[in-house]
Amino acid sequence: MRKLFPIFKRNLTHVCRLKPYKDTKWLMPNGNPVGVYVYNCVAQEKVPIILNDPKIATWYSCGPTVYDSAHIGHASCYVKLDIIQRILKSFFDIKLVTAMGITDIDDKIIKKSNDTQTDFRTVAKKFEHEFWVDMAALNVEKPMIITRVSEHIENIKSFVEGLVNTEMAYAADDGSVYFDTSKYSSYGKLQKMQDSGEPSCDSKKNKMDFALWKGSKPGEPSWKTVWGEGRPGWHIECSAMVSKVFGSQLDFHAGGIDLQFPHHENEEAQSCAYHNTTQWANYWIHIGHLILKDTKMSKSLQNTIPIPSLLETYNADTFRMACLMSKYRYSMEYNDEMMKSAEDVFNKFKFFFKDVEVYINSNVERTAEYNDNLLNDLHVVEEKNLDALRQDFNTSSCVNSLLNLIGNANKVMKSESSNFSPVPILLIADYIYNTLTKFGLKFQDSKENISSSLIDVLVDFRHTVRLNAIESKNKDLLKACDLVRDKMKTAKVQINDSKKTPSWVYVK
Ligand SMILES: [Zn+2]
Repeated sequence: MRKLFPIFKRNLTHVCRLKPYKDTKWLMPNGNPVGVYVYNCVAQEKVPIILNDPKIATWYSCGPTVYDSAHIGHASCYVKLDIIQRILKSFFDIKLVTAMGITDIDDKIIKKSNDTQTDFRTVAKKFEHEFWVDMAALNVEKPMIITRVSEHIENIKSFVEGLVNTEMAYAADDGSVYFDTSKYSSYGKLQKMQDSGEPSCDSKKNKMDFALWKGSKPGEPSWKTVWGEGRPGWHIECSAMVSKVFGSQLDFHAGGIDLQFPHHENEEAQSCAYHNTTQWANYWIHIGHLILKDTKMSKSLQNTIPIPSLLETYNADTFRMACLMSKYRYSMEYNDEMMKSAEDVFNKFKFFFKDVEVYINSNVERTAEYNDNLLNDLHVVEEKNLDALRQDFNTSSCVNSLLNLIGNANKVMKSESSNFSPVPILLIADYIYNTLTKFGLKFQDSKENISSSLIDVLVDFRHTVRLNAIESKNKDLLKACDLVRDKMKTAKVQINDSKKTPSWVYVK
């Protein structure tokens, strides 16, 4: 990964050339527009994505605090971020260099460690491992670089030291260090007039000041510093880790909407102060909450659904389709009705591909003539979808356009008088399949795959028993074999005994 670092150094000149954007606090980078617009919370509107090199972008996502199993709120956040990353890469040909920070030192991890009498590192490792297993099951691509707080303590300490040395931060009597918000005039850039979320205490100079370093308490892991023993505050971790990987500026910084304030506000403030720049992250991407019966899903409310439970009921493709059908910035309500409708939409695509196969293999004499209307529909949808993705990654509009395209293709396929060339239909099927797989859908029903291999085992076993029964003229055993065949047909699996090697198919 170190080889990548020279690429990011070029961004230093980039930072110096940021220019005012309308009357907001967002500064427009001076580089190459890539033709995509994304909502930015600093500008409070969609802004153009401008990159130093139009084909390369840096991306950091705040990862989980690994103190418990991930739930479907995490699933929706990381699947939606994965979709956006795939869009930038596959539709706009941008090479993304991705990193994610894992918070493996935190109050909640320490509490769990104390409650279970387990070392905090063991707790964090266990849940981080679980997180990656869950993400793989959801087909979320792993970031290129994973940073962990426990592996960046020295880096974090020197970041805090840098801020103290320039008097942007101050040490308190209890060994804590606070960021001095009164010295940073752009505080509130991402979200205005809110409490910093930090507990008020006498050692702080200003109400909004937040802890960069926390003085140690008994029973907590701690590290020695010039201010005394202690451990990192949450916000400084990401700033220090991002800076280590990407230098003094990055293109995209992403996370759930609840991180916008205070976490990202504080990250931006301390990073601008440390690097002496006016804009550290050019593009903030925030994913809306997953809500459950009008409440946000969260550990503290004890209303979470673990990711493995989700995947027992619905497959990863269905969940991703639900994410594609919603707008990433807004809340998404999770309920069975919504998931069933996502499943129906996904099945419509699956059936369409089957129908195209049947259509191609049917015994119809065809001409070489193309159905121009269908070709035209395809071109219109291709353009419309690219436009939708350029406008803040509007995937739900794309899904609707693809469904309309299917409707038009089905009309032609079902029309008995149709003997046009199948080429337009094949091009449509190919375009739809490519688009959906670019969004990260796999079209692999894991349950179907598992049941297929189980059926193989059962059919082979029955075949061996049946041959023995024929050879030994055991009528009872033959009857039992027939019964198995009939019962499987009721379960929509049809066995063909007429060949040397038995075969089977799913029947509707
Ligand atoms: Zn973060």
